[in-house]
Amino acid sequence: MPEAAISAPLVILGGGVTGLTAAYLAARAGHSVVVLEGAAEAGGLLSTFPVGGTRLEHYYHHFFTHDAELRWLIGELGLTDKLRFQPATMGIFRNGGLHPFNGPLDLLRFPPLSLPARLRFGASSWFLGKFAHWRRREDTPALEWFYRYAGRAATDAIWRPMLEVKFGPYADRVPIAWMVGRLRQRMCSREAGDQRLGYLEGSLQVLLDALLARLHSLGVHIVTGAHITELELRQGSLAAVRTTAGEFSGNRFLATIPTAHLAPLLQEVRPDYAATLGRIEYFGAVCTVLELHRPLSSTYWLNVADPGFPFGGVIEHTNLIPPSTYGGRHLAYLSRYFENTNPLASAPREVIARDMIAPLPRLFPQFRRADIAAVRVFRTSTAATVCDLRFSEKVPSARTPIPNLFLGAMAHIYPDERSCNNSIRVAAEVCRVMGLDTAPVPRGPSLSALIGME
Ligand SMILES: Cc1cc2nc3c(=O)[nH]c(=O)nc-3n(C[C@H](O)[C@H](O)[C@H](O)COP(=O)(O)OP(=O)(O)OC[C@H]3O[C@@H](n4cnc5c(N)ncnc54)[C@H](O)[C@@H]3O)c2cc1C
Repeated sequence: MPEAAISAPLVILGGGVTGLTAAYLAARAGHSVVVLEGAAEAGGLLSTFPVGGTRLEHYYHHFFTHDAELRWLIGELGLTDKLRFQPATMGIFRNGGLHPFNGPLDLLRFPPLSLPARLRFGASSWFLGKFAHWRRREDTPALEWFYRYAGRAATDAIWRPMLEVKFGPYADRVPIAWMVGRLRQRMCSREAGDQRLGYLEGSLQVLLDALLARLHSLGVHIVTGAHITELELRQGSLAAVRTTAGEFSGNRFLATIPTAHLAPLLQEVRPDYAATLGRIEYFGAVCTVLELHRPLSSTYWLNVADPGFPFGGVIEHTNLIPPSTYGGRHLAYLSRYFENTNPLASAPREVIARDMIAPLPRLFPQFRRADIAAVRVFRTSTAATVCDLRFSEKVPSARTPIPNLFLGAMAHIYPDERSCNNSIRVAAEVCRVMGLDTAPVPRGPSLSALIGME
């Protein structure tokens, strides 16, 4: 291990958007901060790669008009003019056909469902979004609720595929509480007559670069390639963090790395706490990104609701952002979530790409292999936490049993949907718990960071 031994009053573990935002809030409030990031570059799940003269996220990213916390951060960094909201088209592939699914009119015409089934779907969704309260619905699996109230036809055609796109093999374990939060937000945003999705011109790299530059100007020390391997406790408090880039000591520590990575580090020093955090499961995601000479379809977001496809969603990015942005190239993600015991977690990337590309002609009959200019496969084992029944009981406190170690992680996003905006909310809340001034961060309608932040 290198000899370096750096000390800072606040040491932040993890340089994803949660860690970087927390670093910004702390430095803005006058604190001296070090951020330890294991990868060669900061950014975590927001990371990008070069394409067509600009950059694109490894994993599809878009934003909602109600993402107040994200808009705040973008504004702080002087990037508001780069945030664009565009109309986004949604579709469902069911019974061998691609059906638009953009709102009530499409629902009324949705051929895979009979008229009574469509009305039942509409009424049950409306009830969930308008009247249900998530706290009272943590015990009921979403699919059980949907089969009972939305009906078998609508659940098989719409809800099950949608949950499988989001949670992969864990779709059966998600409580209806999670859907309540999601529908409520979507309805809020639609009430304003807004069905647009946001994207940052130049990709999230623009936000990362601006945030990193701001952190540097505030004196924040960001150490990349600092994979944390060991935590050292003295008299019950965290004294030092050992990493592949040296040892770092501090007065206070904030962990923003996935709890699945933090728990093994605590195994030696606080096995009881390691076991508590170990109850939070994560699942992985793989995105095969196709660079194409021509489009697959005119739909931005396509849920694949017929069985037998090796992906649940096709997100055709250039149906949101024009291909001219990428030198005329069309870009599409083939997305799939998996449990970390699935062979997909370790399968060679070429095999994943081959298997995902093979069935494309069934979805898009005009597709030809020669349409593909380049293929990239990105994979993560910590795409999201498994928000299963009564997940609120698993959400850890931001105050850990180690008095000078705080925690702000993806588990805190429950019952909301994992997102960049909600990670910023978590960062703001954990900073508040630490007594830092977070006054500038607005509170949008996000349901994240409601639990564990007392
Ligand atoms: C497939 C996919 C699609 C998504 N789509 C959207 C979207 O459309 N809109 C949206 O807003 N959000 C989306 N998100 C969610 C968004 O990317 C996340 O909410 C956000 O990036 C999480 O940030 P984080 O800092 O909490 O975690 P991470 O980004 O995971 O950051 C954690 C950091 O800790 C580091 N780390 C881990 N272990 C160690 C260690 N031992 N030592 C040192 N460092 C370590 C990691 O390298 C990483 O940089 C998507 C995510 C995925 C996976």
